[in-house]
Amino acid sequence: MRLRLIRHATLVVEYAGETVLIDPMLDDAGARPAIQNSPNPRNNPLLPLPIPAEEVVQGVDAVLVTHTHSDHWDATAQKVISKPLPLYGQPEDEQKFDSAGFTSVHAIQTTAKYNGIEIARTGGQHGTGEIAKKMAPVSGFVLRSSGEPTVYVAGDTIWCPEVEDALNRFQPDIVVVNAGGARFLEGDPITMTADDVIRVCRAAPNAQVVAVHMEAINHCLLTRGDLAFQLEAARVIHQVAIPNDGDWVDLNR
Ligand SMILES: [Zn+2]
Repeated sequence: MRLRLIRHATLVVEYAGETVLIDPMLDDAGARPAIQNSPNPRNNPLLPLPIPAEEVVQGVDAVLVTHTHSDHWDATAQKVISKPLPLYGQPEDEQKFDSAGFTSVHAIQTTAKYNGIEIARTGGQHGTGEIAKKMAPVSGFVLRSSGEPTVYVAGDTIWCPEVEDALNRFQPDIVVVNAGGARFLEGDPITMTADDVIRVCRAAPNAQVVAVHMEAINHCLLTRGDLAFQLEAARVIHQVAIPNDGDWVDLNR
């Protein structure tokens, strides 16, 4: 298998002979206002796609959406993704996909089967306290197929019991975490901080971790450089890939 970071949480995963697009945010730079009540108020996305949106969706066989916040599912994605493509997501988002005109929508309650791939849904907490309630629901997904590594895409979550459970239950070979330490003016971070990524590494010492969700949305304050520095200090950097936008990450292991 291999995986390409397009930008932010948007990934193209080549897995078991299928090309799966995850969390497509395909708007041009500055297409949307800054996140409300957030630090560093600049229009989003902060920077353009590394390749044109039409090119991102070329050859894609299926789409997987962890939740429908605009940094994971935006207007351009809804425009350029072919409507009959199989589209998988959490049950709470089914209606949204239907009304956007998608004709092969699959809400995953617990697991789904897609061309020899098992997609299992996992939980998460998109922040703490009242903020987490407002941001819910969010999901992550685990991809499994015989002869392929097990891949856990954690989605927008902080380190929490749901993430720990998923690591224990599925023993993933590859863990994609949404870092960035996104936050509002008040309250705790709503996506993983460096400390959270370190916790993932320590809880799954044999997994290859891929950290994304950085430097593309105004309220994600943790940069790749900061993260690498802290992972280095915690002596877990060898476990973590921090791709740049457009980079392929080779994951055969
Ligand atoms: Zn996000």
